[in-house]
Amino acid sequence: MTAEQQIETQHLPLGLGDGARPFWEAAVQRMAGWMQARGVQSRDAVVLLPFAQHLASARRAWRSTGLWQPRMETTHSLASALGPSPLSQGLQISFDAAIDVLNARQLLAGQSWAEDLRRQDARAWQLALQHLVEAAQALARHAHALGPQGRQAFWPRARQALQQSGPADLEQALALVALEWAASDSRVPATDALFSLRPSAWVLMRAGGVDPLSDALLSAAAADGIPCLLLDADRTLEQLASDLPPVRLQEARCEDPESLAQCTAATVLEHIRRQELPVALIAQDRVLVRRVRALLERQSVRLGDETGWTLATTPEAAQLMALLRAAQPRASIDELLQWLKSDLSRGLRERQAADAVDQLESQCRRLGWVQSGTVQATHLKGPASRLWQDAQELLAILRAGPAQRNLAQWLDQLRRLLERLGALAWLGEQAAGRQLLLALWLQREPWPDSAHQLALQSTLLGSTDFVQWVNETLEAQQFVPELPADLQVLVTPMARAMLRPFAAIVLPGADALTLGQVAAGPVLLPDTLARQLGMPDQAGRRAQLAAGFVQLLRAPHLTVLRCDRAGSEPLARSPLLERLEAAREQSGAGAIPAWQDPRPRRALAAQPMHRAQASAAGQLPRALSASALEALRNCPYQFFGLQLLGLREDEELVEELDKRDYGNWLHAVLHRFHELAREQRPDDAAQALADAAEHERQRMGLSEAEFLPYLASFRRLQPRYLAWLAGHEAAGWQYEGGEQPRQCQPWTHPVLRELRLQGRLDRFDEQLGRRLLLDYKTGSTEAIKDRLKRPLEDTQLAVYALLSAEEAAASGATLEAAYLMLDDSKGLQLLPHPQVALNAELLRQGLEQDLAEVQAGAALPALGEGRACALCPVRGLCRKDDWWEGSP
Ligand code: SF4
Repeated sequence: MTAEQQIETQHLPLGLGDGARPFWEAAVQRMAGWMQARGVQSRDAVVLLPFAQHLASARRAWRSTGLWQPRMETTHSLASALGPSPLSQGLQISFDAAIDVLNARQLLAGQSWAEDLRRQDARAWQLALQHLVEAAQALARHAHALGPQGRQAFWPRARQALQQSGPADLEQALALVALEWAASDSRVPATDALFSLRPSAWVLMRAGGVDPLSDALLSAAAADGIPCLLLDADRTLEQLASDLPPVRLQEARCEDPESLAQCTAATVLEHIRRQELPVALIAQDRVLVRRVRALLERQSVRLGDETGWTLATTPEAAQLMALLRAAQPRASIDELLQWLKSDLSRGLRERQAADAVDQLESQCRRLGWVQSGTVQATHLKGPASRLWQDAQELLAILRAGPAQRNLAQWLDQLRRLLERLGALAWLGEQAAGRQLLLALWLQREPWPDSAHQLALQSTLLGSTDFVQWVNETLEAQQFVPELPADLQVLVTPMARAMLRPFAAIVLPGADALTLGQVAAGPVLLPDTLARQLGMPDQAGRRAQLAAGFVQLLRAPHLTVLRCDRAGSEPLARSPLLERLEAAREQSGAGAIPAWQDPRPRRALAAQPMHRAQASAAGQLPRALSASALEALRNCPYQFFGLQLLGLREDEELVEELDKRDYGNWLHAVLHRFHELAREQRPDDAAQALADAAEHERQRMGLSEAEFLPYLASFRRLQPRYLAWLAGHEAAGWQYEGGEQPRQCQPWTHPVLRELRLQGRLDRFDEQLGRRLLLDYKTGSTEAIKDRLKRPLEDTQLAVYALLSAEEAAASGATLEAAYLMLDDSKGLQLLPHPQVALNAELLRQGLEQDLAEVQAGAALPALGEGRACALCPVRGLCRKDDWWEGSP
């Protein structure tokens, strides 16, 4: 008889009763009955359960047997009780992915094929390291599960299979390194102690798929003549045709993810209302579950989450990454501000004026600085200047030292920086912060000669690599917050929901993508090879998923919910649901019942949104500009929002230079060029223009590299501009001034006595008896030409004419105005506004009447027409997008 034949197997059907309790009662009765029949002393027997969460249910149920309780454990709880796991030393696998990647670099150092890859393709090199670690850890874990004897036979077999696995290529070479790395580990895993135990009997409860370690243990024990019982609770979906569970099952189909989240939350709330507690919410789709959590928390549901999330997504980790990015030489101002606004720099902020961060932000915005490297500290004023200096002194702690440092030095500098910030203590007070300090070795030392110490001491990293290492370490760690007491709902992975005392299970995401596909195995161990080595393959992982799903059917209530579309594509049902329905139909139970929507319906009366309108009697400001008047003409409601309420969009600090930066710079360059030329005409105009360009670039703190594309445009413009200027001057025009503010009071109506017009003239030129107002433009020539076809609609030059009227009259000059188009591909173009003085007077009369009416309380309606709406900053206020179509 083989060892397998000596293991007695009993199956536990699904139809044992309603929920986990009858299941455990039936299971312990089977165990007790078997022990009595075999004359086994129950107190000396060991029962192995799938998860630690099952221990309490099984021990409670055993009390009903009246027998002495056997030892109930999981393989890992039993192994831990028998002795500690040996620690990794030197280059041994530590099962800490971030440390193992560093040790894998050492392993490959000096191998010519690996060195070639490192030099040629840094990304492929990094991937190769990750794949190597993934394969080595998988091989080591599998070998541990085989027990001492199985392991001995495994390594030569694996070596042979790998050598025959295909042509010698990079993957095969990496897989062989992974194998030798894992095989060279001389440590004895803690689980080997299980194989020396001699209990009166082993009882293994199998649920949710095969566990290789438990199976190896039972085979070895049976071969040694120890009585063994395998209680197999797993059933295939096809077996359900003759073993249908009594679960109350329903299936919901939803149109989109939001509706799926709402239906899921409604189902959970209905279970709570009916006191069917606790409810398991299965976390198949993390994004969806986050939304469901938000909906449930709004209803004050007591909810816990034992799936956890990556440490990198916690606020503490995000703040640490912000600090590290702020310390980088090419950090952006956004990154610096993100760190300065975080809890991590609270200590620094408390030493500054209350508004220091706001002041620094607004000064950076105003001066157009987007990168820390372009900030000119001497231009900063007051609290912003002190904050900047203090922040730079702190960041210098991390920046000090050679470019390449070992990991231990980087971590030491980071620890000192956090200490000086007062952030080390703060992190120690947060649950995620404590885990972060441990994961990054900021609050513990690796033991001497360990794999961790070797990696920390011998790995040389530059600053970008260090930030990447911290990020990867935080990504690799799971953070599980403490569960609150008296839970109503527990978010849990599917595999861990089985056989637990949940009154109801809710599984959203039961579609073919979310509940059908399984994670791929290690890249270096493809399916054929994995099968040869006896390791899990895709089919095995799918069978495990199906086994876990079947166990959910033991719950009293199971609701599966799914979307039937992914965007515009249809989304199929999970194949597990298809197989379940086929089994139900075969057994005569019919299709899976449709979900009953528990949400009450409420009829709401329509409340159509009408076109917005405002009035603001007596609220006109003291001064208006050309753009304000243009807003009044385009849409009075926009004028109300921008000028009377003073609403403004916050300017974003964007790293890349945009067209507006270019425009501002170009205005400044031409102004400087002409002002200097007026003092002393340059011998070389082209050089003078180039000098002005460079001077203004530096003054505005614009980085040379980012400015390159605009510099190319400027080099094209330079000869064209000088050619145009030569022609303009030959026609008798002379530059007279630029960038000059002007204001006037052109109204005669008594209610507008206090209202001024104001603006800044780009430039004005003169020749005998004529004054020409020039406005530089870098936009589309066609758009300006269109505007000038109806000159009465061109507010800008008409307003400039009003601002200059008195001055021109005093000097006896006639006024003219034009746009100078700088960007046109055909060369510079001068587009005159015809009869500007006459049009300015007509505009003044029209505006005077409109403004007087506004001041008297006339309506300011939202016109909602034309291009004005496209980029309107107060669109959210007038709610144009919500207007009822029939609105007058
Ligand atoms: S979105 Fe259109 S209608 Fe509304 S305020 Fe702006 S310009 Fe006026």
